[in-house]
Amino acid sequence: MFSRLVSGSLSLGMLAAVLSATLLSAQAASNSTAPSSAVVLHAARILNVEQGTIQSPGEIYIRDGRIVAVGQTVQHPADARVIDLGDTTLMPGLIDAHVHLFLHPGAEDMQTVVESVPERTIYAELAARDDLMAGFTAERDMGTEGAGSADTAVRNAIDAGLIPGPHMRISGNAISILGGHEDAIHFNPAEHISSNATYADSTDEIIHVIREQLKDGSSFVKMYETGADTLHNGVFHTPWQFSEAQLAAAVAEAARMGTVVGVHCTGEPGALFAATAGVASIDHAYQLSDETMRLMRAKQIYAVPTFAISEYFADHADSPSAAASEHAMLDYHVEQFHRQLAAGVPMAVGSDVGPFPHGTQAREFVLMVKYGMTPADVLRADLLHGARLLGWSDHMGQIKPGFDADIIAVPGNPLEDISAVTHVGFVMKDGAIVRNDLPPTVR
Ligand SMILES: [Zn+2]
Repeated sequence: MFSRLVSGSLSLGMLAAVLSATLLSAQAASNSTAPSSAVVLHAARILNVEQGTIQSPGEIYIRDGRIVAVGQTVQHPADARVIDLGDTTLMPGLIDAHVHLFLHPGAEDMQTVVESVPERTIYAELAARDDLMAGFTAERDMGTEGAGSADTAVRNAIDAGLIPGPHMRISGNAISILGGHEDAIHFNPAEHISSNATYADSTDEIIHVIREQLKDGSSFVKMYETGADTLHNGVFHTPWQFSEAQLAAAVAEAARMGTVVGVHCTGEPGALFAATAGVASIDHAYQLSDETMRLMRAKQIYAVPTFAISEYFADHADSPSAAASEHAMLDYHVEQFHRQLAAGVPMAVGSDVGPFPHGTQAREFVLMVKYGMTPADVLRADLLHGARLLGWSDHMGQIKPGFDADIIAVPGNPLEDISAVTHVGFVMKDGAIVRNDLPPTVR
């Protein structure tokens, strides 16, 4: 995520609202995770994401949380409930490859100073619910921003069916350097305000922190490879934080434990260090050199452009001059994004949601189309690349027999109008219906 200082505060009334909403969500969770009998979903259309095609109509037969059959028609077993979702398109549950459950809109830096970790964990529970209800059935959380390994508790509670939320890949706290990105640089030193990341300044420290985080429950490693970005007269600059050798040591240590490293990295030369070291994703990726793009294509390292957060910051800047510089940075990124697409850099879809409201991040799909991708390519980036990036491509991201029954329904045809994914009306996770706002259809 990014550093922003915005005014805001939390009242007792808001806290009470948060607590009561959490109780409601726990009740919703116990309902949503009840064992489901066999279900047949029927809708006007179904998406084949691999082919980038729509079939009409579409049906999916689901039993015990798994997809059994898919097609224009499927068998309707006697014990199966048939649910007609009417004039909608069935598609796999969405994947957000870059979220922050432990952030909410408002003063991003101040919330990590003012709010306790237990309080922030309550917010994270609500964020997980909101993301799931918006159709995101799997997510990669890119750092708790100072809440340590509290994401382990949230992920485990979701997996145990205690609270509603997506399937989660979690990083614990992100790793950064002393005085680097997410350090509390602008505060009074005498107050000893903590960094929002965990320090590691040497290779030994990097390996120690990775081992500690994996012990505490993290499923992958998040590192800040670049710090404060500047753009002057069309020249972008960002300082690198870890050397190529240090990143390679982190990638090797993650691989030893069967996992990967994802980096916050806005530009060069950090991006080249990260691509050479073999990270799994380069998130934000404003600026990539020709050699970095060549390596990313060859190694299938995903760029995660996170346009939604950039647009939000540009539209919610504190002053006209701040808005102008945010817009200039976004324009620069869009121009670079065109080069990245032309160079065949593989993309994944991640929004950096948290600083803007959870549940609204399908905006990222709309922006990736606006900035040059076809809807079919964005959906492939999200569902196929996203599932691969999360390490779940053998059972997630497609509607196929044997895959998880993580299914959503959207109005219209997302291949014709990608904004359909911002209006999810039906959400199923592991075969359990967690949301159905669609009017019942008589057949
Ligand atoms: Zn982020």
